Amino acid sequence: MSYIKGLKCRECGHHFPIAPTHVCEFCFGPLEVDYNYDQIAKSLTREKIEKRPQTMWRYRELLPIEKDPTVGVLAGYTPLVPAKNLAKALGVKEVWVKNDAVCYPTLSFKDRVVSVALSKAKEFGFKTVSCASTGNLANSVAANAASAGLECYVFIPYDLEAGKVLGTLVYGANVIGIRGTYDEVNRLCSEIGAKYKWAFVNINIRPYYAEGSKTLAYEMMEQLGWKVPNHVVVPMASGSLLTKVHKAMKEFHKIGLLTDNTDPKCKVHGAQATGCSPIATALKNDWELFKPVKPNTIAKSLAIGNPADGFYAMQSMKETGGWSEDVSDEEIVEAIKLLGETEGIFTETAGGVTTGVAKKLIKLGKIKKDESVVICITGNGLKTQEAMTGHVGKPTIINPELMRWMLH
Ligand SMILES: *Cc1c(COP(=O)(O)O)cnc(C)c1O
Ligand SMILES: [Zn+2]
Repeated sequence: MSYIKGLKCRECGHHFPIAPTHVCEFCFGPLEVDYNYDQIAKSLTREKIEKRPQTMWRYRELLPIEKDPTVGVLAGYTPLVPAKNLAKALGVKEVWVKNDAVCYPTLSFKDRVVSVALSKAKEFGFKTVSCASTGNLANSVAANAASAGLECYVFIPYDLEAGKVLGTLVYGANVIGIRGTYDEVNRLCSEIGAKYKWAFVNINIRPYYAEGSKTLAYEMMEQLGWKVPNHVVVPMASGSLLTKVHKAMKEFHKIGLLTDNTDPKCKVHGAQATGCSPIATALKNDWELFKPVKPNTIAKSLAIGNPADGFYAMQSMKETGGWSEDVSDEEIVEAIKLLGETEGIFTETAGGVTTGVAKKLIKLGKIKKDESVVICITGNGLKTQEAMTGHVGKPTIINPELMRWMLH
């Protein structure tokens, strides 16, 4: 049973049939999946969801596939960690960490979007999948393509972290490193996509792919007892995840899944690294549009200088009363250590960005001392070890003799 009506242009509202396409033929606006929410509301209940397996597919009526998922069936349902020590350190009442650093199978939230994208690509009959990536997407497309028996081509900036590159090659994918920024990789991929009949998960499959991000927020609300927090801090690369977190909350409200079903009053805040902060800078300066930048930051997974969904991310933040901040590379490293030392969670640089920005928002009074906040940790620290080299001290090396060491 499918609840999808088709695709709809975000700008002019024109409707299109379900197909591997992402731009409006009339105005070049981005296309989005259009659901039949009345039907979903009739069928989907909290009780029904709670009886299903603990994966992101327990919300499948709200995901854009026709048949049962065939790729990434075990992804999602990551822990929502009550972070008491971090809350104390930050001086705020209630902090939760949505920990996608342990998402299955490749330890980032990208396993959610890829599960939907590749399941959809198989429905469309594609045999080859591809992507332009800042690292985590490459890992997830390669791993899921391997298990699904799909041919895979991955395009990345040549200077990504070693863990991200090795963590793509190990799955047998064709990896192409490009001497350029992500934005240049992405532009090249659009040209390749016009020539080859491949499923580019973040180009021609993008409307379906992006919907997978909603499951992070569905889980967050379910894990909070079918409620929204006062605040959520979301990392922004293209800005897509942030818009989908906002959309997920509106959907749960619309179909009546929240306990207190008044309009969800959760402020959605966007986090960027100062070295690549086009969206945060535009929001802070009250510009209507962002200005593309050339990225220079250790948070490579977020290093998109010309973010495809930047404009819509700004709209989501404004609509919810959220704010946007950015943190320097030093602050990112400090925040990674803070999260590690208070909660025992090792995040990659993107999680240093959200934790650092949460700290800043509390300091600025945007998040009040008696409020609740969910911090999204979207990737695993073992993949970006370079960022921490020289910042965590060294082990004490001793001989295997207990007494001498104790006497020192
Ligand atoms: C891709 C990515 C994001 C954000 O992605 P959007 O393009 O904004 O949806 C956040 N964190 C990590 C670790 C990522 O890899
Ligand atoms: Zn249009």
